[in-house]
Amino acid sequence: MKILVIGGGGREHALVWKLRESSSVRKIWCAPGNAGIAEEAECVAADPADVPGLVALAERLQPDLTVVGPEVPLVNGLADAFRGRHWPIVGPSRQAAQLEGSKIFSKEFLLRHQIPTAKLYGAFASADEGLGALERVDWPLVIKADGLCAGKGVYLAANAAEARDFIERLMVRGELGSGGHRMLLEETLEGDELSFILLTDGDRYAPLVPTRDHKRVFDGDLGPNTGGMGAYSSDDLLPEALRRRIVDAVVEPTLRGLAADGIRYQGFLYIGLMLTLEGPKVLEFNCRLGDPETQAIAARIDFDLARVLADVAAGHLDPSKLRWKTEASACVVIASGGYPGRFEIGKRIENLTDLTTLTGVKVLHAGTQRAGSDFVTVGGRVLGLTAIGQTLDVALQRAYDAAQRIHFSGIHYRKDIGHRAKPLTARP
Ligand code: AMP
Repeated sequence: MKILVIGGGGREHALVWKLRESSSVRKIWCAPGNAGIAEEAECVAADPADVPGLVALAERLQPDLTVVGPEVPLVNGLADAFRGRHWPIVGPSRQAAQLEGSKIFSKEFLLRHQIPTAKLYGAFASADEGLGALERVDWPLVIKADGLCAGKGVYLAANAAEARDFIERLMVRGELGSGGHRMLLEETLEGDELSFILLTDGDRYAPLVPTRDHKRVFDGDLGPNTGGMGAYSSDDLLPEALRRRIVDAVVEPTLRGLAADGIRYQGFLYIGLMLTLEGPKVLEFNCRLGDPETQAIAARIDFDLARVLADVAAGHLDPSKLRWKTEASACVVIASGGYPGRFEIGKRIENLTDLTTLTGVKVLHAGTQRAGSDFVTVGGRVLGLTAIGQTLDVALQRAYDAAQRIHFSGIHYRKDIGHRAKPLTARP
């Protein structure tokens, strides 16, 4: 098989890492990839948002399978363009990707199919309407921009002044771009958050191993939200009773709802959940794998990823083929100081090659570039140090051992990934 992977972050490096281990894979391209991926696959220049450009690229490369990492190409209709040409691809259609591409679409879907979620106060296409609705809500309030806003479209407002300020930035000043043309207001949920990620061919599905991530930039869950500062996975994160409850209340109604709406969903579906006192409720859907959850999940893969993904693209997933290592895994994200705000790039990463000898550790690149024989930083999230171990403590220790060895000017990483790793419970 010749495989094309779309994207260029840590998630895509994790996919390339595991695809390469498959005996059926002869060639991997990654568009655009990064400096770490370039050690393991052929990187080709591409803009993941540009569907015609990616179609032209695939026309030239003729991959047997294309795997899409990020949401933007999916929301832009890449999977439709490929399926229309009978080119095998893993990723949902433009319509299915609306589950992520439009918070209003996804809320309407949840309500229509009676899937538990935060109470909706209303969806609005103008700031005035939204501001008017502030009289009828409870505080704190969650405000969500409808469209993709690079992770900045959700705001928890403690009071009306904060809400007004965010609504104005979103809908009057257009600070978050076109994703902010519409918005919704919803109830704030309390509880533990859990990601439930599954792979489906639109008919059958297989859950991936449970993971949790850390979104805030500083230890103790302080500071602004980021793309993700670390993740971990272990089987005891998700006790069977809770897993069953999530499957019954959320996962299966979601898949039935998609089918009832005539949407054949082929690819990864990420369900962001809040485990509330009333049971699990959906916070969001993503139409692709999470980053850095993928890095922790990939470390536990014990099956032929390329074959399973080819099966999904062909519409005959066999869930029993997804076998997982029983060990735990962790990914510690190494970031540039200042991220997710302003940060400097071009810093030389020292001692990176030393890490290749460490047991159970895989260095996954996100924002790196080659400068001669060195690697330099080029993004906010630079590396994901990913490790596996008999227990989560061992996996974390290995990832942190690796983190301590490398250095670049301004390096920042959280020291408390996995610190709250207790088994979650179905409440009440
Ligand atoms: P989303 O992109 O919708 O997942 O929102 C990003 C983050 O905002 C989630 O991971 C939660 O931490 C938080 N969030 C979203 N919706 C709610 C809600 N209704 N109540 C509390 N927190 C929320």
